[in-house]
Amino acid sequence: TYVVIDNCIACKYTDCVEVCPVDCFYEGENMLVIHPDECIDCGVCEPECPADAIRPDTEPDMEDWVEFNRKYSEMW
Ligand code: SF4
Repeated sequence: TYVVIDNCIACKYTDCVEVCPVDCFYEGENMLVIHPDECIDCGVCEPECPADAIRPDTEPDMEDWVEFNRKYSEMW
């Protein structure tokens, strides 16, 4: 899965949301998140992010971000 990290907070672009083929972006409290079970790992959103906030969970130490993204995807 891909996840959104806190680089997203100040970003006002939503290009990532528009390109996602499965609509798995959700609005968190002050940033976007990706539902980790809905993301199909296509990677299309990553280069659209001007804040470098979208990362694959294969990067080191991403477990907490996966849970953060899950929590806020399911909150509303
Ligand atoms: Fe959506 Fe693909 Fe990005 Fe996952 S990797 S959030 S499916 S655009």
